[in-house]
Amino acid sequence: MDWKLPRQGACRCGEVRIEVRAAPLVTMACHCTGCQKMSSSAYSLSAAIPAEGFAVTEGEPVVGGLHGPDAHHYFCPRCMTWMFTRAEGMDWFVNVRPTLLEGAGDFAPYIETWVGEKLPFAETGAVKSYEALPPMEDYEGLMAEFREWVVSRDLGGEVIR
Ligand SMILES: [Zn+2]
Ligand SMILES: [Zn+2]
Repeated sequence: MDWKLPRQGACRCGEVRIEVRAAPLVTMACHCTGCQKMSSSAYSLSAAIPAEGFAVTEGEPVVGGLHGPDAHHYFCPRCMTWMFTRAEGMDWFVNVRPTLLEGAGDFAPYIETWVGEKLPFAETGAVKSYEALPPMEDYEGLMAEFREWVVSRDLGGEVIR
C-alpha cells in the first residue's frame, strides 16, 4: 500500500484542514452507541495516526462530543464535523476520521469494536471483531497484523485472520 503521504483532509465546510504524514497504526470501525450518535450513522471509522504524523494545517478545531476527561473529540467550529479524537493518557496517537481524507477508500477498517452494541444491519467488512475493546496487551500484535494485512491486500492474497 502506498499511503500517498502526506494526505490532505478537511471538514465538510473546509474551514479546518488536516494533514496526515504517517501511515496508520491500525484502522477501525466502532459500533458503540456513542459513535452512532456522534457520527449520526451506524458506526464511526478511525485511522490511528502516530501523533507526530498528524497536523491541523488550517482553522481551529473545538472540543465537542463528550467533553469528558477520557476522550477529547475535536470538531470544526463552523460545520461541526467530528474530525479527530485524542485519548487522555495516550498522546502518542490521534484517531482521525478517514472519511475526511483524500482517497478515504484506502482506509478499510481492520478491526471493529463494540460489536455488542452494533445495529443489526451494520456491516463493516472488518477482519477482527471485538465485543467491546481489544485488551490493552493485544494492541502491539494487532498493529503488526494490520501491517501484514495491508501488504497481503496489495498482493491480492488471502486476508490474514
Ligand atoms: Zn467545517
Ligand atoms: Zn465508539
